[in-house]
Amino acid sequence: MLEARSAIRILHAYKPPLADRIGLRLDFNESTAGCSPRVLARLRSLDAELLARYPEREPVEKEAASFLGLDPSQVLLTNGVDEAIHLLCSTYLDPGDEALIAVPTFAMYSIFAQAEGASVVEVAAGDNFAFPASDLLARVSSRTRLIAVANPNNPTGAAVAGDVLLRIAQAAPQAAVLVDEAYFEFHGETVIDPAFGDCATQIENLFVARTFSKAYGLAGLRIGILAGVARQMANVRRVASPYNVNAAALAVLPEALADQEYVRGYVAQVRNNRENLQRELGCLGLHYWPSHANFVLVRIGPAHAEFVRALRDRGILVRDRHTDPGCEGCVRLTVGSDAHMQILIDALREVVPLLGLQTGWRSELPNGVRS
Ligand code: PMP
Repeated sequence: MLEARSAIRILHAYKPPLADRIGLRLDFNESTAGCSPRVLARLRSLDAELLARYPEREPVEKEAASFLGLDPSQVLLTNGVDEAIHLLCSTYLDPGDEALIAVPTFAMYSIFAQAEGASVVEVAAGDNFAFPASDLLARVSSRTRLIAVANPNNPTGAAVAGDVLLRIAQAAPQAAVLVDEAYFEFHGETVIDPAFGDCATQIENLFVARTFSKAYGLAGLRIGILAGVARQMANVRRVASPYNVNAAALAVLPEALADQEYVRGYVAQVRNNRENLQRELGCLGLHYWPSHANFVLVRIGPAHAEFVRALRDRGILVRDRHTDPGCEGCVRLTVGSDAHMQILIDALREVVPLLGLQTGWRSELPNGVRS
């Protein structure tokens, strides 16, 4: 009988709740406004001839590289950041190697690492989900071949300073260190320049990932970027399919990059609404963690499932994160456009008192965290 590899047989399937997503979707950190009208117009203009051809990644890769201020040899377009993670795991992990992650974090690091037969070493986040830099450094060993950090992190929204990440990369030269900047636009800080900007000081083992699934509103097209030093990107390229990014995504990417005004407008809305939502959560007496991304993690407590259900009954989908390490009773709320956030806030004002969720906690902790 045909059997999957032993690493695959023990893997738990990651099943995000994708069925029946009818309503206001605040559960996957997508854009609630959608992509730029210029992108949509380009998509509508595609013809049969373009679709008949195998997609040509290189010319668009050049544009993406120039957008990031990098050389094309330093950039690979990918089928979303998911594929970038997968490629890094295939390129650098042998069975028995270790992949180091701080938890809670994005699930795919662990899944793709385990699929290669690597063991995942989890380091718990500090108080209020602070990045556990020294604990993580203490766990680096000669077997550590991958370290993945989402910055800002999902599902907590916490961010870590770039120089901490550069220090980690320098302390683990035998490991591929991925800085996943999927939520970069909502945060505004990147390690691209310090890591790759200057040839003389480039960090050989560092990689940065970006996505068009969030601020650009293109999650359905599946397009992302992996950046690294040219010598290492050549290794990653060996594993990638030459046709990993589809023709429609490649055709619209230059429009998406060109319409920065649209992205800036949406990001400004989200940042403003993030502050408003956090203020509202505080007024409602709920514990939340200040976020640097397009979502806010809030502690609901034992009624987390009821809370998610009550919002679903009102046409709003949010994500229960109760089973993530350290996230007992927590729910993640995506932040979107003004109109959509008003709908969420109106529903919260109704549901929170209805379920008796107020903790009455109002005091601000010294570091600005409400907990
Ligand atoms: N990284 C992080 C931290 C994410 O939260 C997500 C999406 N939830 C991804 C990567 C996946 O991005 P993409 O859609 O580009 O595959």
